[in-house]
Amino acid sequence: MPDTRFAAIAEKVRAHEPLSRADGVYLFKQAPFHEVGKLANELRTEKNGRRAYYVFKRYLNTTNVCYAECKFCSFAAFEKDPRSYRWTAEQIIDKACAEPNDYDELHIVGGHDPKQTSLEFWLPVIAALHERIPHVQLALFTAAEIDYMCKRARCSYEEGLTQFRDAGVTSLNGGGAEILVKRVRDLVCPRKASAQEWLEVHRVAHSIGMKTNCTMLYGHVETLDERVEHLALLRELQAQTGGFKCFVPLAFHPEENELHEYGWTGGVDDLRTIAVSRLMLDNIDHIKAYWISYGIKMAQLGLNFGADDIDGPVDNQQRIYRDAGSKTDQSTPLSDLKRAIEEAGFEPTRRNLLYRVLEPA
Ligand code: SF4
Repeated sequence: MPDTRFAAIAEKVRAHEPLSRADGVYLFKQAPFHEVGKLANELRTEKNGRRAYYVFKRYLNTTNVCYAECKFCSFAAFEKDPRSYRWTAEQIIDKACAEPNDYDELHIVGGHDPKQTSLEFWLPVIAALHERIPHVQLALFTAAEIDYMCKRARCSYEEGLTQFRDAGVTSLNGGGAEILVKRVRDLVCPRKASAQEWLEVHRVAHSIGMKTNCTMLYGHVETLDERVEHLALLRELQAQTGGFKCFVPLAFHPEENELHEYGWTGGVDDLRTIAVSRLMLDNIDHIKAYWISYGIKMAQLGLNFGADDIDGPVDNQQRIYRDAGSKTDQSTPLSDLKRAIEEAGFEPTRRNLLYRVLEPA
């Protein structure tokens, strides 16, 4: 018997009508798995053709000192912990500029470190980076870090973000969103920016011309209804500002953190989450199957379930997922990533931070 509910949703998707929260919950809980994937792939193909984007980027996690104590975090350490580290301004500049520095995007996030995470520390570093590696676009900080820095500087988000933009920051990173629902945040990250604050930072960033990414950390204490609420809030902000470039679903990794009893997400959940995200976020152009989180094999499948981006070859300095148990070999060469994209049925397409297509490498 044909599933009339699914057919009605497919009709809405093809007519570019936003799906309701009830539609999203149905897609997560009841809709046939393969049909959800097929429909997401159809929308992905309409938006991005056969392209699968990758980017040359360097990741730096410049400090793990943090007192926010998010329950899902395996990366943070108190200052006196032997695991803690904090790079100096010179070390950050040296690592960012180290040869070969012909990459396109520098991605920096870190802890809420009272001694490093401040406008005062970062503005001269950004100016130096802009001068030394002007060809590199800077994707710096999450909205949670911006909230922390602006509160400590007693300035508004607009004042803080304007200074970062004028210093040369192109884009904010999408992290810190976790699940944008108070119940979940009270349980897993009560000491950092609230859902409203996270959204407000992005709203202000978009209003001063910055583009940003958004994420969702799923697979821990949240319900499927709360995942849908998160996606709906992102879509509503995007409808007002148009400033999100890409949505990145991030699978929870359970090692070395307080939520370990929730375990690893399953492959079906990962793929369905990518597909439902594609369908709910019809007004965000790009969905990433982040290969460092999923591994390259799941990222290949993600490309067939609505994703059009896999991130890219990176230096092996991304610590956040590694500390949480990721076994992904981050030094996987570009040739392997391109082969994986082609095997999945897509055209490897090199992009910059703002999704301008670049000459293939
Ligand atoms: S997720 Fe970020 S803010 Fe939370 S404890 Fe870890 S480093 Fe700190």
